[in-house]
Amino acid sequence: MAGDKKSGCSAEYQLTEQVFRQIAAGETSTVEIEKTLSQGYLIEEHKNEHRGDSQLLCVVWSSENGKRARHLMRSAADSPQQLILWTYQPNRPQWSTPVKRAGQEEQTVNADLGSCYFCGGDLKSILAGNYDFRLDGELYVIKKVPATLCEQCGEKYLSAEVAKNLEESVAAGAFTGVIQAYVMEYKVKGD
Ligand SMILES: [Zn+2]
Repeated sequence: MAGDKKSGCSAEYQLTEQVFRQIAAGETSTVEIEKTLSQGYLIEEHKNEHRGDSQLLCVVWSSENGKRARHLMRSAADSPQQLILWTYQPNRPQWSTPVKRAGQEEQTVNADLGSCYFCGGDLKSILAGNYDFRLDGELYVIKKVPATLCEQCGEKYLSAEVAKNLEESVAAGAFTGVIQAYVMEYKVKGD
């Protein structure tokens, strides 16, 4: 499982909403994703009987600002198109180098909460500023939600207690305001 295997290349892929949010936020790009798919090395394989197996790829390249590294997790499921689950920049304390996880002694953040189910990253308690969800086609945002955040992939976890409270508040329609949002329609290129 060491970084000695080329991952193989294919521009055929789908990505999760979370990855799209990263692209929209400028944290990554389809160029970076395709670079990782074509040039990345397989550094870990994760087995999961519920979600299916996944593979962690790493690519390192030189930019004007020095060396950059990117990790990309993709589904290892046997399907025609690969699914990009999430991407992130490998940093301390989780990674001592782009391809090497830090030793146990360096992992000090909230060890009692365990690690991220999806990527194994460290978790920390936060108040989620904007916890959004959709219901009957409407977008709702709940603020100040006590959650656990994976510092690596950004996945958020809610306790059952918090989820039940939210469920009740939503059912009761206990919303306090409406915010404005900008809208854009996707345009097919060409034609
Ligand atoms: Zn994670």
